[in-house]
Amino acid sequence: MVPLGVGDLAVMRPDELSGLLAAIQGRGYTLLGPTVRDAAIVYGEIAGADDLPIGWTDEQSPGSYRLTKRSVGTFFGYAVGPHSWKATFHRPELTLWQAERQENGGFTIHEPVPQTARVALIGVRACELAAIRIQDRVLLEGPFADPHYAARRRDVFVVAVNCTEPGATCFCASLGTGPSVGSGFDLALTEVVTDTEHFFVAEIGSSQGAEVLGEWPVDRASRSQIAEATARTQAAADRMGRSVDARDVKEVLARNLENPRWQETADRCLGCTNCTQVCPTCFCTAVHDLTDLSGRTATRVRQWDSCFTRSFSYVHGGSVRRSGMSRYRQWLTHKLSYWADEFGSLGCVGCGRCITWCPKGIDLTEEIAAIRALDQR
Ligand code: SF4
Ligand code: SF4
Repeated sequence: MVPLGVGDLAVMRPDELSGLLAAIQGRGYTLLGPTVRDAAIVYGEIAGADDLPIGWTDEQSPGSYRLTKRSVGTFFGYAVGPHSWKATFHRPELTLWQAERQENGGFTIHEPVPQTARVALIGVRACELAAIRIQDRVLLEGPFADPHYAARRRDVFVVAVNCTEPGATCFCASLGTGPSVGSGFDLALTEVVTDTEHFFVAEIGSSQGAEVLGEWPVDRASRSQIAEATARTQAAADRMGRSVDARDVKEVLARNLENPRWQETADRCLGCTNCTQVCPTCFCTAVHDLTDLSGRTATRVRQWDSCFTRSFSYVHGGSVRRSGMSRYRQWLTHKLSYWADEFGSLGCVGCGRCITWCPKGIDLTEEIAAIRALDQR
C-alpha cells in the first residue's frame, strides 16, 4: 500500500470512524464533538463515535430549531447548532486575578496561569473554521494577544466535515466561507450515503492527519467516490436557504446609517443578546470585580458581553447607544461593514445561528435586503 500524504484522499467505512477517533485519543487529545443534549446538537466532550448524533438532523428557520430522526444512520447529517467552538478557546467566563487580604493588612495577588488544552475538535464545519480564523486574527494576531486564548489554541487537532445538509438559515456559500472546507484542518471528511453505500471521503490536511489515518490500512478514494462526495457538497451550496450579496454590502450599510429600516427592526428586537452569544465571531467581553462578604477576597472576572445591552457602551455619565435602533445598527454595521476596515474581512461567516436563535426571528439577510432595496430607491 502506498503511504498517504497531505492533499491525498482516502475512503473510510462508518465502522472505521470509531478507530479514527480512538487513534486521535491515543495521542493524548480530549475529543470534543457534536452530541445530542437538551433537544439540540451541542458541542461537548465525547467518548467516541457512538456519542455523535447518529441518525439525527435539524430543522431550522428564523426563531425555530427542532431535532428529528432520519431514516439513515448518518453521523454528520445536520447543520450547526447553538454552540460554536468559540467557547473552547475564548471562555465565556474567566478569572483574571484574585486578591486576598493578609493578616498584616497587605494583599496577595493570584493570577491564573493560561491553560493549554490538548483537544481534538470533531465535525468542524467550513463556516466554523472561517470563524476560528477571524477570532485568531482578533485575539491572537493583533497588537494585544490574549494569553489565555493563545494557550488554548496551541495544541488542537481538527477533524473538519464538508457540509452536505445545510440549514435553512445558512448562507455561507454567498460569503465564500463554505460549505467546503479549504484549509486549517488535519483531516476533512465528506459523508456520502447512497441507496447501497455509506462511506466517508477523508482529505488529509496535515502530516499529523496523515499519521493518524496511516495507523490502519485505508484505501485511496476512487474517482467515483470523490465525484460522489464533491457532488454532495456542491448540491449543499446550491440549496442553501439564504444569501447575502457580499460584493458591496460594506458600502451599502455604511451609506445607510439613517435608513428607516433600522427603527423597524429595533421595534421588534428584544435586546435579549441571543444573537451575539451564539455568534462564533463575536468576541466582546466585560470585566467585573466581585468581593466576598467577609471582604477578604476580591476577584476580577471577564465574561462575554453583548453590544445589545445598554451597559455595553456606558462611559462616564451614561451610555453612548441609548436606543435599540442604535444598538442593532451598531451590531450589523460592525459585522458586515466596518469590521472589514478593522480586520480585513467581514465579521460574519454565514452560519445562520443569529437567525435561528433570535426569539423574534430577526433575519440579518432580510434586513440587509430591505436596506439595499431602500438604498436603490
Ligand atoms: S452574524 Fe449571524 S450568521 Fe453571521 S457569523 Fe454571526 S451568528 Fe453566524
Ligand atoms: S436575538 Fe433577536 S431579539 Fe435578541 S437581541 Fe438579537 S436581534 Fe434582538
